[in-house]
Amino acid sequence: MHGSAGRDGDHLRSVSSILRGATMTPHIAVLGAGISGLSIAYALEQAGMRVTLFEANARVGGPLRSSRIDGYLLEHGPHTLFQRTSALASLLTELGLDDAIVDARESASRRYVVRYGRPLALPQSPAAFLKSELLSTAAKLRLLAEPLIPAFDREGVDESLANFVERRLGQEVLDYLLDPFVGGTYAGDPRQMSARHTFGMLKELEDEAGSLVLGALKRKLRTPSSETPPAKRRLLSFTGGLQTLTDALAAKLHGELKLSATVTGLRRDESSWRVLYRRGKSSAGVSVDAIVSTLPSYALAELRFKGVTPPERELQRVTNITFAPCTLVATGFKREDVAHPLDGFGVLAPRAEEMHTLGTLFVSSMFPERAPRGRVNLTTFVGGARQPELALLDDDAVIDLVKFDLNRILGLRAEPEFVHVSRWERAIPQFEVGHQLMLDAYASLEEAMPGVFFAGNTRDTVALPALLNARHDHAARVTDFLQLATSPASS
Ligand SMILES: Cc1cc2nc3c(=O)[nH]c(=O)nc-3n(C[C@H](O)[C@H](O)[C@H](O)COP(=O)(O)OP(=O)(O)OC[C@H]3O[C@@H](n4cnc5c(N)ncnc54)[C@H](O)[C@@H]3O)c2cc1C
Repeated sequence: MHGSAGRDGDHLRSVSSILRGATMTPHIAVLGAGISGLSIAYALEQAGMRVTLFEANARVGGPLRSSRIDGYLLEHGPHTLFQRTSALASLLTELGLDDAIVDARESASRRYVVRYGRPLALPQSPAAFLKSELLSTAAKLRLLAEPLIPAFDREGVDESLANFVERRLGQEVLDYLLDPFVGGTYAGDPRQMSARHTFGMLKELEDEAGSLVLGALKRKLRTPSSETPPAKRRLLSFTGGLQTLTDALAAKLHGELKLSATVTGLRRDESSWRVLYRRGKSSAGVSVDAIVSTLPSYALAELRFKGVTPPERELQRVTNITFAPCTLVATGFKREDVAHPLDGFGVLAPRAEEMHTLGTLFVSSMFPERAPRGRVNLTTFVGGARQPELALLDDDAVIDLVKFDLNRILGLRAEPEFVHVSRWERAIPQFEVGHQLMLDAYASLEEAMPGVFFAGNTRDTVALPALLNARHDHAARVTDFLQLATSPASS
């Protein structure tokens, strides 16, 4: 990624020994203290740099926010972390979090999708697939014909995810599998999203073998059996909720964390940068050797640039990246007041079912101690790119929509005992068709402002594990820049 793909902790450790030998410790500003900013600051400090972290809010973590209210443990944003790699497992150990991890219950592997107005379990085996009502017989046959579908050979054309899936796997797979999945995970609309930039692996399979099935088989045969085994796959959270992760990262930092400090501008001085920020009524600045911005792309539009002129078209392109709004409604019920057994992860609502909600997580079924005894804790997502206007309704209206849908699909026997609304007006950036232009624009901005680097979920990806992993690449880019800036040839 970003020209330094796959650089890991070892590379940074060797660079850090060079930097430690230098007379001055490089000072880096990291803008934004969400999971990206915190983890990049951590990697930079591990590489021997001094870091000052700027965050506009009074707290760190961005949407990772957990709180216990009336005996319910609420997640205001993300609910789960999917661990697939040993790198993530090692990071959690390094942060001292092993004892705080809670694994999702085994039953969380069961996921429901609404069809014919009721939740149907996603089939988990070929036999269950054949019996499932989720897809019609015609759709199942169409799916099996996938290897016979010709590949799309217009090289370089960025296709929408909806088009890609409909073309390869058929309309019903798009409507009842892909659409609810991307609505629930990216708050996205597959008709707008780029296949290459969101489900790139599937697109690669088609490019490699002309078919998803044949491509997957080919890769399986090619994979050497001696390959390092990946870590145990775990869907997890922490006893105190996901905020534990960002709190632990923040606790590891030695540098200065400036909370309630809104970055207002960047000034290029002779051989350094100055970060201008506002705290309450006062303004100040900090001089640094390099800057890593993890600010949401729209926040860049508010910055004043001095001593440097970023290319206008590229800046505009980046600041215009679409964000989908999302409102989360947490509800608590007496167990007996919900008819459905809630025996799974949750239920997703496809667009084709014409509901008002994107999906509902069965939070207290997934993890223990998320609701008082005899109660259940549900979280329903409203809005997204599919129905942005619904996310912006007032609390009473949005709660009514949620109760209506919950009653329709889960069967309610009473009003919720507990309701809490969390709003994210700009929740998740959308990687739409043409996303490559945004990535190119970020690269041009970096070229025009040497020593300023862009990271975070508008550039990298939205998934937490990948954002954590990206910290090594960004730290390596900074160390490369500093090495070049201090090498004799450059002076
Ligand atoms: C409701 C919701 C549910 C989600 N669910 C999941 C999930 O289950 N699994 C998953 O993997 N991902 C999930 N995501 C996505 C994931 O949470 C995000 O992609 C990730 O947290 C983004 O982290 P970041 O650090 O890149 O950005 P952010 O967390 O947005 O960090 C940017 C920071 O910059 C700060 N800032 C903005 N402007 C300024 C300024 N001028 N000066 C200083 N600071 C500023 C902001 O306050 C913010 O703290 C979810 C997201 C949302 C909103």
